[in-house]
Amino acid sequence: MRVLRLNTPLEQIRGIGPGIITKLNKLGLQTVSDILYHFPFRYEDFSHVSNISDLAPKEQSTIHGVIEDVSIRHAWHRRMFITEAQIADETGSIRAVWFNQPYIKNILTVGQMANFAGKVSESDEGELYFSNPTFEVLKNENQETKHTARLVPIYPETRGFTSKGIRAILNSLLQNIPDMEDWIPDEILEKNNIPDLKSALLKIHYPETLDEAFYARKRFVFEDIYLLQLVNLIQKLTLAKEKAPQIPTDIEWLKTEVLAKLPFELTNGQKKTLWEVIKDISLEKPMNRIIQGDVGSGKTAIAAVASLVVSKLGLQTAIMAPTEVLAKQHYETFKKLFLPMDKKYQPTIGLLTASESKIYYEKDVEADIKKPALIQKIKKGEIPIIIGTHALISNSAKIAFTFENLGLLVIDEQHRFGVKQRAELTKNSKGIIPHFLSMSATPIPRTLMLSVFGDLDVSIISELPNGRQEITTQIIQKEHAQKTYEFMKQRLNEGRQAFVVCPRIEPSEDEKSVPKKQFFQNIKKLELKSVKEEYEKLSKTVFKDYTVAMLHGQMKPAEKEKIMANFKANKINVLVSTTVIEVGVDIPNAAIMLIEGSERFGLAQLYQLRGRIGRGEHKSYCFLFTDSKNPETNARLKAIMTAKNGFELAEKDLEIRGPGQFIGDEQSGFSDFMMKSLQNIELVKSARESAALTLTRSNGLDKFPKLKERLAEFKIRLHLE
Ligand code: ADP
Ligand code: MG
Repeated sequence: MRVLRLNTPLEQIRGIGPGIITKLNKLGLQTVSDILYHFPFRYEDFSHVSNISDLAPKEQSTIHGVIEDVSIRHAWHRRMFITEAQIADETGSIRAVWFNQPYIKNILTVGQMANFAGKVSESDEGELYFSNPTFEVLKNENQETKHTARLVPIYPETRGFTSKGIRAILNSLLQNIPDMEDWIPDEILEKNNIPDLKSALLKIHYPETLDEAFYARKRFVFEDIYLLQLVNLIQKLTLAKEKAPQIPTDIEWLKTEVLAKLPFELTNGQKKTLWEVIKDISLEKPMNRIIQGDVGSGKTAIAAVASLVVSKLGLQTAIMAPTEVLAKQHYETFKKLFLPMDKKYQPTIGLLTASESKIYYEKDVEADIKKPALIQKIKKGEIPIIIGTHALISNSAKIAFTFENLGLLVIDEQHRFGVKQRAELTKNSKGIIPHFLSMSATPIPRTLMLSVFGDLDVSIISELPNGRQEITTQIIQKEHAQKTYEFMKQRLNEGRQAFVVCPRIEPSEDEKSVPKKQFFQNIKKLELKSVKEEYEKLSKTVFKDYTVAMLHGQMKPAEKEKIMANFKANKINVLVSTTVIEVGVDIPNAAIMLIEGSERFGLAQLYQLRGRIGRGEHKSYCFLFTDSKNPETNARLKAIMTAKNGFELAEKDLEIRGPGQFIGDEQSGFSDFMMKSLQNIELVKSARESAALTLTRSNGLDKFPKLKERLAEFKIRLHLE
């Protein structure tokens, strides 16, 4: 056999026929690495070898004996084949029975020596026998066993491909491991007390003890998170070598002409964050920062102030929002904030979305402008502040951002985008890279911040501006719904508006085995069903005298935008929706939120949803409807009422529900191991330290060619390349 490499295709391995290849491919296994990394999900303990006379019912044992008889019969009434064998050792004999596995008759031969392993059963008559035991025919006494007399690995299986089959292939591959070199540097193995690749692979598949298996697992849990941290740090170092425009701030001017003229005083969190931003953009290396803060904590205000600083130096700022409504909202916020300032410091603001293009250039003067004309102006550097949707930086519209004067790029609520997109955004033809600022109202747990988002520096605004109303939150058992509806109607009659949010419904257990993509489609279908039903019901009964509208993710963007705009304009009283309203829409008049099936939501998500209300002068109410009488569920919901901020809840969510909801199960491409490691802060930290150490040893990883190669594969797997 040629040198075994992790990326050798299985077709090139002698002894694996095309039939088996097809089956392996069905399991998603294509290379040596794929199958070596196809780990057992548990082990069967057949290590206890016993004499036949010592067997006891219900115990798991291996016996070693000679086959005395093999027979097969057809049990007509049960419509199955029953294979039977009689096995004897020096101490006695026992019967083994297999159901519907007639081929066993052809494998076992009288007179052969073999091991049988499994749980011992007892018949009504008190006879002990083996039911469906695993067996292994032995050619000689000292032969090493694969399926019996030891801890035996059990694998995720596919139809017609058993753990036994997988073991057979793995065994021959594991024999050839000597040719495989480790790609994790020795120093890192030692530092983290994890085994090298070869022994880890041997031990995860064939451990002597469960401790050994655990030790081997530790290495594989470490691998991906270590690679991810390398990606992050390399990204960070690479970016640090790039050039960004240095943007120094005239602090005196900032105080007297900008901050003093804002309609409010910045909170401490805002001041600290603004200072961090100002420091970053004064440097030649590009800023790469994320501001985290609840909805309404004043992130946009920081972006607005920063854009003034940038425009004073004659450079441009682009602000990207996830939807048109939000882009428009930012545009209005900027206008409002700049209004009291000296005219000469009020920069022109351009709004550029799929359906709108306009400029606001002097006090109270706004004009529509044709899109190409606006883009022309942007390119020529005539528009200091450009506000638009994320769509602008994609595809054809991307031309809008090839302008040369870009000093600062702000992205709102794009945390679900990956490292790759962040890198792409920062390319520019002159080799100058704009400073990058990301804003997120979704609380991201610390482990994820240090890993998945590990290339970013973080500013946190943990308080809301003073005078913000506290939202009254109540958990309502569904049978008391009527009273709540009556209360809501009174508020509607006073002119307020309400959100009714329908739950994310997960498909049932057996539907979970379908492919990921289909699974998420099913969720979407169910979600749609629930929102439609609720809409029908409410608009015909409880709220029949009000204007009720429906909003869900399946609608076309333009449709969604229209409904949001109408809701904002108070043309809709009650908006029944899925969680599509999650992201940053500011509707001060919406003072009520009713969340159906609230126990189905993540805590951080409930928290964020609730952030849609309590944004104006009106007292706001959030009702968490639930059918659940489970005290644990209700305790979980109560956390919403006591939590100081979203971070606390996000950590709790991560613990209970895993990282999927923060990074999106659908596209992450992370292994199950990776998902687990993302819940372990110690692991995330030590992987980060290890990655940093590796890079100090060899900056470009040239000293570690195997690691370099592995990293490249990792990036492809995660679609980072
Ligand atoms: P975010 O982007 O974090 O959701 P915004 O910056 O849009 O928050 O602020 C929400 C609202 O609060 C805006 O109307 C804004 O003008 C106002 N605001 C921002 N900072 C303060 C502050 N320090 N004091 C009072 N109001 C503020
Ligand atoms: Mg916002």
